[in-house]
Parts: sequence; C-alpha cells; structure tokens
Amino acid sequence: MKDFLKGVRDNYDVIVIGSGLAGLTAANTLAKAGYSVLLLEQHYQLGGMATWFKRRGGHIFDISLHGFPVGMIKSCRRYWTSEIADAIVQLRHIRFDNPMFSLETTFDREDFTRLLTGRFGVPHATVQAFFDTARAMNFYDDQATTVGELFSRFFPGREDVVRLLMEPITYANGSTLEDPAIAYGIVFSNFMSKGVYTFQGGTDRLVGLMKQELLRNGVDLRIRASVERILVERGRVLGVTANGRQIRARAVVSNANLKLTILQLVGPEHFDPAFVEKTRAVRLNNSSCQVYMALRPGETIDENACGDLLFSSTAPLFRTELLLSRQITSRTYSFYYPRTRPGSNRTLIVSSTNARYQDWAGLSDADYQASKQELIESTLDAVAKYVPDIRVKLAHVEASTPRTFQFYTRHLEGASFGTKFEGLAVSRAVPEQVAGLYHAGSVGIIMSGWLGAVNYGVIVANDVDAYLLKQQPVAPLPPDDAREALPA
Ligand SMILES: Cc1cc2nc3c(=O)[nH]c(=O)nc-3n(C[C@H](O)[C@H](O)[C@H](O)COP(=O)(O)OP(=O)(O)OC[C@H]3O[C@@H](n4cnc5c(N)ncnc54)[C@H](O)[C@@H]3O)c2cc1C
Repeated sequence: MKDFLKGVRDNYDVIVIGSGLAGLTAANTLAKAGYSVLLLEQHYQLGGMATWFKRRGGHIFDISLHGFPVGMIKSCRRYWTSEIADAIVQLRHIRFDNPMFSLETTFDREDFTRLLTGRFGVPHATVQAFFDTARAMNFYDDQATTVGELFSRFFPGREDVVRLLMEPITYANGSTLEDPAIAYGIVFSNFMSKGVYTFQGGTDRLVGLMKQELLRNGVDLRIRASVERILVERGRVLGVTANGRQIRARAVVSNANLKLTILQLVGPEHFDPAFVEKTRAVRLNNSSCQVYMALRPGETIDENACGDLLFSSTAPLFRTELLLSRQITSRTYSFYYPRTRPGSNRTLIVSSTNARYQDWAGLSDADYQASKQELIESTLDAVAKYVPDIRVKLAHVEASTPRTFQFYTRHLEGASFGTKFEGLAVSRAVPEQVAGLYHAGSVGIIMSGWLGAVNYGVIVANDVDAYLLKQQPVAPLPPDDAREALPA
C-alpha cells in the first residue's frame, strides 16, 4: 500500500489539518512567515468544499463556485498571488424569478437602491438608512437583534422586500430570519459593496495555483492523510496521529469541522466541562443538494433568460422552512458559459438547494438512489422554464446530497457552511483551552464562504505566529564587547 506520509518529518512548527480555503490560507501565511508547515488532507484532492469533479466527455463541474464578494480580490492579492486575484471577475447578471417578482440586477447598493425605490416603492431615505445600518454592524454589536426584527424595523409588512434582501443570503450561507442581524448585515454589505464575483478558469485552476504557491513557500502537502487524533498533554498540543503515525508540532491548526475537532479529534476529556457543553450546543448549518447538468459541447442557452446566477422559486411567499423542505420550491441556478473556462465550448448548469441531512441520512441504498433520481428529474423539469430543450441538449446529469458533502469533507451532517453563529466564539476560545491548538474553518456566517474562510485562515495564522513567537522568545543579543568574548 502506498505510504502517503513518505518523507514526512517527525517534527514541524505547525501542522494544518484540512485543505479547505481556511486551511490552505493559514498554511501559506505561516510558511511565508518562515515556519515549517505540514498540511494533511484526508481527501485525494485539495480544496475542501472549494472543489470540482470531472466526468467522461471532458465535463468539469464546480461545487461551490457560485459567487463571493469583491473582498476576495484584495484577500487573494495580499495573501496569495496577483495571478489568482487577477482571475476574479464580476457576475453582472443576477436574476430573481418568483411569484412576487421577476427581475435582473447587478446586486450592488446602487442597483438595489434603484430597485427598492423605483420598483418596490420604498422611500429613498428608508433604503439608505437600511444600507447604512447594515454596513455599520460589526461583530461586537448587539447580537440579540434578529434579521427578522431588522427587516420589521425598516420594511414592516413588506414580504416582497424581505424576499429580495434575504433569499440570496439564505441561499449563500443558510442564514435565517431568526439569526443575529449582525451576521446578515456583514455578509449583505460585503456583497452590496460591489456585487457578486467568480473565479475565471474554475475551482481546479484556483486550487492548482494555490498548490503551486504553497509548494513555492515550502509547505509539505499531503493528500490521503487522515488525522485520527490531535495529541494533547497537560493542556498543550503535542502533534497529531495521521494514517497511524505520530507527528509532532509546536502548534496545530484544525480546519476540520469545529465540533468534530473538539469532540472527536481531541476528545472532550481535554477541555473544561463547561466548554464541552458549549461546543455540544453549537448548531450546525444546513446542508445542500445539487444537480449538475452538462450540455453537449457547442450547445448554448439563452443568456437573457438565465443570467449568471438565478434565484428561482415557486413558493408564493419567502419562508426559510420552505427552503429546507424535501418538497423543493426554491432552486438557485449557476450558469457556466464557455467564457467561465476560457478555451472551452461548454455550458454547464448547477442547481443548488438547501437541504437537511436528516432527510437523506436514513434512506436505504435503493431509496437513496431513487430519491436522487427524483431530484434530478424534478430539477430538469424546473430548469426547462429557462432552458426549454434542456433534456435534448443534455450530455451528462447527476446529483449530490448532504451525504455526499459529509462523505468528502467529513463535515458533520454535510454542513455546507460549518456551524451557526455561536460556533465562532467556541472556535476562537479553543487555544484558551489547549495551548497551541487553533481552529480555522467555517463557523458562523462571517467566517465561512470563500472569502470568510480565506480571511479566517489569515486571522488564525496571525494568532499562531504570535503564540510561537511568545513560546520561544528569541534570546537577546549580548552586548558588543561580550560578543567578542564568545567562542567563534
Ligand atoms: C453546495 C455548496 C455551495 C457553496 N457555494 C458557495 C458560494 O457560492 N460562495 C461561497 O463563498 N461559498 C460557498 N460555499 C461555502 C464554501 O465553499 C465553504 O464555506 C468554504 O469553502 C469552507 O472552507 P473551510 O476552510 O471552512 O474548509 P472546508 O472546505 O470545510 O474543508 C475542510 C477540509 O478538512 C478536511 N478534513 C476534515 N477532517 C479531516 C481529518 N481528520 N484529516 C485530514 N483532513 C480532514 C476535509 O477533507 C476538507 O478538505 C458553498 C458550499 C457548498 C457545500
């Protein structure tokens, strides 16, 4: 059997568990700062949820490349490379189609102001006050106000306005009207600053470029390397056991799911009972179902009807509960045109729907396959509204479920965005419980998604740097005359 840890040293400054965007960014930042870094990924591919798969016939499907805020350009330029930053381009055609309204927008503050005042008839001052309030929110604000309360304050009784403002964010990170308003405010404002962006060339190109940069910076990268335990002794991290082998490190950063990290990889016995209780109480985010459709090479679709990203729903009103139901009424389509992957003549469609793990977990193999087929058929029927001859144009179709996401990333219940908001405080407190142990990965709404994960990777890398500097203070240089007396 191949040894995926061949050549791995016995000691590193830092071990990073998991190659999601937070793990990759933390590893890169620490390696650039001069630390020896080992990155261990259990899957055969780097990227975590930022991933892709290939199918016979030359089809390449992106899983989570649907859209992120403009801040990704700055973060990639600062913490990765200009080549990565330069490949980020705007998606200009964001469409909504539901029983309340059908419209197209560039999804930024200017265009939303135009829509809210013109089409929805909201007074200009109210719209500006709403945007300013959302923009001014930060993590240290009041966390008791919910998104629903925020909307009631500015747009009482306006279910159509709430739908416009909330549906894309719920799709983007599973947030609900019951979540803290600040989480919504930060994510919404990030998007509203300049719209929705994507990575030209696909996730495989992005992760390929990141891999090159990690190798350039000296990160020891290992795939198919599963961490079974994080080793802790007397309140301090010692290293990990991966593929049955012990490897030591001065610090460990876990990019694996927060609850999995604390409750399984480390074990509750190494934490205060109250912290364990707090961890157990953290709610996971919901998961997703997706249907991947590849058109035959050269086949095209009507861009005016589809746009780049289409939030479609047949539900008369916007209800979070409906977005999670097995009786699917809402689907978000990403349309990938040949220009998405320059040089290709392919058009692909990915339909995404929020989903509950529990609805898929207990199915027998036969029922699971039948349910997936049903998901595919109902999605093809639904997409026909925008691509009428989809079944004729189709070269390949398949579906994924919460079980798929759990299988490939080990996120408990296939959570697409890690944990709910309360996970952030637990994630940040991990090093207070175990010296040298850090968590960097999807928690809450702010620290997940492509941009949130990259930025959280940097924040945690800085924490690790500060810890390592303190742990081994550099001995002060002796005065000059004393130095002369030192042996050569
Ligand atoms: C269907 C879907 C659509 C999405 N769409 C978007 C979108 O349009 N825009 C956006 O910004 N975000 C989107 N996201 C969310 C985004 O992809 C994630 O929030 C982000 O990529 C998560 O990064 P992360 O660093 O938290 O790590 P993750 O991607 O969660 O990766 C964790 C890694 O740790 C590894 N790991 C776990 N346990 C171990 C172990 N014991 N040993 C070794 N390795 C281990 C896993 O294999 C995985 O590679 C979407 C997610 C999903 C599922």
